Amino acid sequence: MNRVNLAIIGGGLVGASLALALQAGAKARGWKILLIEPFAPGDSFQPSYDARSSALSFGTRQIYEQLGLWQAIGRRAEPITQIHVSDRGRFGTTRLDAGQEGVPALGYVVENAWLGQCLWQGLDRDVVSWRCPAEVSALQAIEGGYRVRLNDDTLFECDLAVLADGGRSGLREQLGIHVRTTPYQQSALIANITPGEAHGGQAFERFTEAGPMALLPLPENRCALVWTRQGMDAQRLAEVDERSFLRELQGVFGYRLGALRQVGARHLYPLSLVEAQEQVRPHLVVLGNAAHSLHPIAGQGFNLSLRDVQSLAEALLAGPAIPGDLPTLQAYHRRQQLDQALTIGFSDQVTRLFGSNQPLVAAARNLGLLGLDLLPPAKRWFARQAMGLGTRPDLRSKA
Ligand SMILES: Cc1cc2nc3c(=O)[nH]c(=O)nc-3n(C[C@H](O)[C@H](O)[C@H](O)COP(=O)(O)OP(=O)(O)OC[C@H]3O[C@@H](n4cnc5c(N)ncnc54)[C@H](O)[C@@H]3O)c2cc1C
Repeated sequence: MNRVNLAIIGGGLVGASLALALQAGAKARGWKILLIEPFAPGDSFQPSYDARSSALSFGTRQIYEQLGLWQAIGRRAEPITQIHVSDRGRFGTTRLDAGQEGVPALGYVVENAWLGQCLWQGLDRDVVSWRCPAEVSALQAIEGGYRVRLNDDTLFECDLAVLADGGRSGLREQLGIHVRTTPYQQSALIANITPGEAHGGQAFERFTEAGPMALLPLPENRCALVWTRQGMDAQRLAEVDERSFLRELQGVFGYRLGALRQVGARHLYPLSLVEAQEQVRPHLVVLGNAAHSLHPIAGQGFNLSLRDVQSLAEALLAGPAIPGDLPTLQAYHRRQQLDQALTIGFSDQVTRLFGSNQPLVAAARNLGLLGLDLLPPAKRWFARQAMGLGTRPDLRSKA
């Protein structure tokens, strides 16, 4: 039976990034990494690389720079120079500015399909081999590792299995890893929009009674829309004709970017906060959306997972010659716990605070936004959290 050192299950944004973060060190150690993914790279149906775009934090740029990938990714990354946060129908508003924060950009918006292409092209085939298309159908703990069964009944063994198969991970369930699920009773509608005026690198976060929306700048003066609405309402918006959709969106967003001219394909994502109750076991790590899936409005899910990836790669490469021992995995998890708790808390609180219609909460939110603008330290804290720099001293010093 074939044996590898690491089996990464899921070649989405997180699984592929882990392979990249490990490959140079793995080569030096003679480790073999196997990446298993059901969809061929570039296939637009792959969950990680679908029509979505991701807001990458400044911290994420720094990590990809260290991996030598930013030059490629940056070719189609739109810098966010300002974030405009507002509450529809209220006075509260705040503006975060890259210049004021002392960074070249508050973040970058990249189409997932482009990001995926850059990641897969960066893989060193001498160290990382892949089975694609292939799906893991069963995982079994054995002495010193895991036995992995693919859907074509191929079997192999590994010292360390990394579960990066997404938020609906069937394998997590198979292994008896419980999750805490908090449904938001909302879906995110995503689509690309062409505005009438130049977006100039501005990102908009707008909170409305029906749910928060984000409009993020993309290359070629397009914008990526993430519009959160109650399930039925989101379904209706996904189905109405283009003119009605644009009229409704314009009514909610206003004319900050002139008349909205065109909308691309619309897709829906039902939203819940999902947290795995275990992230490490001997010879096993749960990573990415399989470990924690967040509400997308604060644009933090992938950025957090990439910090997990970097931390895990560092721990493994500083650990024993054979990966998978529990103390190393526990040390990794302990190191990331604070970052995970703060980022999940930040996303969840922002979502709840700005998603509530209750007058007192709405008033507090209004004061909060005004307060952010009046109190530079609070605003700075918010900006750092949004940039993905909040809990990482190593990333902080450069910004
Ligand atoms: C609408 C929306 C907008 C978002 N915007 C942002 C943003 O702006 N910024 C941000 O930081 N985050 C954002 N996120 C979150 C981000 O998309 C996720 O954090 C990220 O996709 C997680 O990647 P992943 O690789 O863990 O999981 P996935 O993207 O789900 O990938 C899992 C991979 O595993 C594969 N797989 C599944 N089952 C198996 C199996 N049995 N065997 C082998 N492979 C398998 C799948 O094919 C897939 O490629 C957003 C999320 C949503 C829903």
